[in-house]
Amino acid sequence: MKFSETLIPTLREVPADAVIASHRLMFRAGMLRKLANGLFAYLPLGLRVFRKVEQIIREEMDAVGCLEIKPAVVTPGELWKESGRWETMGESMLRVKNRTGADFVVSPTDEEAVTSIIRDELSSYKQLPLSVYQINTKYRDEIRPRYGVMRAREFTMKDAYSYHRDEDSLDNVYQAMGAAYRRIFKRCGLTVIPVRADSGAMGGSNSEEFMVESEIGDNTLLLCKTCDYAANVEKAGCQPDTPQNSGAQAVKMEKISTPQTKTIAELCEYLKTNAHSFIKALVYRAVNVERDLTGAPGCAGLKRRRLAPGTPEVYDEAFFLVCIRGDLDVNEVKLAAVLKAGDVRLASDADVERITGAPVGFAGPVGLSTVPVIADPTTAAMTDAITGALEADFHYTHVAVGRDWKPWLTADVRTVKAGDLCPVCGGELYEKKGNELGHIFKLGYKYTKAMNVRYLDENGVSQTPIMGTYGIGVDRTLASIIEKYHDDAGIMLPMSVAPFHIVIIPIKYEGKVNAAVDFIATELKKQNIEFLIDDRDERPGVKFNDADLIGIPLRMVVSEKNLPRVEMKLRSEKDVFLVEVLEAVEKITAIVKDKVEKYC
Ligand code: ATP
Ligand code: MG
Repeated sequence: MKFSETLIPTLREVPADAVIASHRLMFRAGMLRKLANGLFAYLPLGLRVFRKVEQIIREEMDAVGCLEIKPAVVTPGELWKESGRWETMGESMLRVKNRTGADFVVSPTDEEAVTSIIRDELSSYKQLPLSVYQINTKYRDEIRPRYGVMRAREFTMKDAYSYHRDEDSLDNVYQAMGAAYRRIFKRCGLTVIPVRADSGAMGGSNSEEFMVESEIGDNTLLLCKTCDYAANVEKAGCQPDTPQNSGAQAVKMEKISTPQTKTIAELCEYLKTNAHSFIKALVYRAVNVERDLTGAPGCAGLKRRRLAPGTPEVYDEAFFLVCIRGDLDVNEVKLAAVLKAGDVRLASDADVERITGAPVGFAGPVGLSTVPVIADPTTAAMTDAITGALEADFHYTHVAVGRDWKPWLTADVRTVKAGDLCPVCGGELYEKKGNELGHIFKLGYKYTKAMNVRYLDENGVSQTPIMGTYGIGVDRTLASIIEKYHDDAGIMLPMSVAPFHIVIIPIKYEGKVNAAVDFIATELKKQNIEFLIDDRDERPGVKFNDADLIGIPLRMVVSEKNLPRVEMKLRSEKDVFLVEVLEAVEKITAIVKDKVEKYC
């Protein structure tokens, strides 16, 4: 391809909102343009790289027997009502009505549509296991799209769904998908950290995220210095540290006046103690709670309902008091998983006052009967603690669990931090920031039950298949590659995803130079080497700069001065070398093959 015949509008200027390298460089290299906040257009060069990433994903999905399909991006609202997600997905889901007033959704993910397709086609156990995937447009009305295609509103996801007779079969495909994901990222030149992830209502370690380390990463990862434990903070556990505050029960509980002291820091100062001595008590509001609250304090009047037929019953709203040691923080994702809730948030000040009978700052578990009390294990052993007395300006001291209060439920809701102890080996945990590129997830029966998917087993008995789901963000993977592979001059793509393998720069595209370039181009075509000839009437310096900016791994300069030899250079190296025109194609083919194989 000739530069003059394509559209590669390179820029010197950087868009004002581009704060990370990949965003800046994709614009400057003429790969990407913005249509609106979170909406982008790939230009020809960007699309070539995008297609390379997509093709790597496609090959690895095909290799594990996953079948490519291409469902519509706009899905009937009815399907989302069947699964119950019409009510639970919230505002990130783009809903539209057609001319007859029927509801539609621009897919943010596709469990419903794919499961409805499978429901219609599945009849016998002989068809299982069955895995399908698509590489298709998704839309999420992200509150704050940022970092270019890293977090866009419209983006492309490879999403796969698998259906099985039993958990063993699901586990096999889950493992195969995990291995395929490792190969995909390796072929893209990326080092990923697979971490245990929150699996919401499913529980257990049934979900794994593939993270790249990144300063701008939205995820906090906890990794063990000693073993290979790695988890998203939303899931991370740790070994219990022995509370300073346990053992023999203390003297009688005492109510003390603590004027003007609402925070733990103020109380520590006032009582001359440390945060470890406190039971921090926080009121949370949870919505769509699946956990059974029968018999729980204050829950007698709560009614359950199904969001859709076939889905589990949930409570629309419920409040809880969550107790954790004063130096620690509650992790809301872990709390939501414990409650099997759609969402949990700190309650409003008005709700706190209504529930605790005191202003914010004086909540505590002693004598509270209005809501269920959930205790993190760090408080469930404290025998000489300080906590709010459900009365303005008063706290209790010498509080002992079991004697003065009893939790309704003890559950790990602690935010694990660097320095905490690995739950597997007891080693020290440390933190990293990560960006999620992919996610594999054992879904269980959630969608197949709600959407009534059935097949007949070998005894002719009707059964429900169990399901898995597996996603990769194509654009986010591409941007992460550029984050990793760039320098001050521009992008330095690995050969496996480069838009062209080589850029050929003729110095004066005429006469002997023209003949040599044409000869090399003809031979390169035969070897399936992708090349870009910079035939523009520009100064060599401009062409060299653009070649560096757009990230093509190999550069060849053809000049009358050097013929019958040509000058070659790898984008990642400083030195140039000369090659005979007649040997150039063989040399280039060898370099390209070697680099594709070594993923560099
Ligand atoms: P995040 O936590 O980053 O919002 P998610 O957990 O909601 O992502 P999944 O539903 O697991 O994402 O989607 C699968 C993949 O789709 C993600 O791993 C990511 O690579 C990609 N992805 C999700 N949201 C976006 C987005 N707004 N822009 C670009 N890619 C995205
Ligand atoms: Mg995810």
